[in-house]
Amino acid sequence: MAAPLWNRLGAAGAALTLAACASTTSPGAVDVDRRQLLIVPAATVEQMALISFNEQNEKARAAGKLVTQGPELERLRRIAARLIRQAPAFRSDASSWNWETVLIDSPALNASVAPGGKITVYTGLIRQLRLTDDEIAMVMGHEIAHALREHGRERISQAAAQNVLTSVALGAMQSREAQVKMAGQFADILYNLPNSRKAEIEADKIGLELAARAGFDPQASVSVWQKMSQANERGGPPEFLSTHPANDSRIAELRELIPAVMPLYRAAPKA
Ligand SMILES: [Zn+2]
Repeated sequence: MAAPLWNRLGAAGAALTLAACASTTSPGAVDVDRRQLLIVPAATVEQMALISFNEQNEKARAAGKLVTQGPELERLRRIAARLIRQAPAFRSDASSWNWETVLIDSPALNASVAPGGKITVYTGLIRQLRLTDDEIAMVMGHEIAHALREHGRERISQAAAQNVLTSVALGAMQSREAQVKMAGQFADILYNLPNSRKAEIEADKIGLELAARAGFDPQASVSVWQKMSQANERGGPPEFLSTHPANDSRIAELRELIPAVMPLYRAAPKA
């Protein structure tokens, strides 16, 4: 059996860890600054995440659930484009990323992002909560922020550091079979484990600032979580809430942040 990744890396791994402990983004007006453990290369994480993203879309397409045109998709992509245009405020390389937004026709009240900027939104979230453009911008801004902060890569790195991933993860992945197996392991970590509380707060903060800079009303950050919480009370928690608790402390934190981003919102173009 191959030695665990961490042992194989040995001293080199320790040096790499120190070198790879940095903040992925500029702090912005919302002041997000935390050093992150990023020992797995971004390219590896993105390659694996892309396999899962494509599989998800192919499955949806085969089931006739991938929305490929129409006003709902156009609306989403328009909002995403405005937010992504502001991403360089947090990291300059973001404008050259291969951003993509897909819409899946499903009652799920959910949205997610894959490393590298692949955003998935489910129609249920928009339709059932009757989200306004400003509120959609808050959810998408939050997801874009996870990508900018590379929270997925951080979780993969933590798993690698704890030897949760098999050693094949970072070895040569020649065969298609090995790649698909690895993509499955990565997807488990990326989608089934919630982000840490710290990562969630960071995504809330950066998402709020991206939205404000793009001309979306910061007050929508409060109303969108209130809608989620009401949906939760009406029956069954929305999928998004299983990893994103819409509790009073989250809403209070966002409310407190609004004054910091109001000047950016006032100065922003509103379309
Ligand atoms: Zn989140």
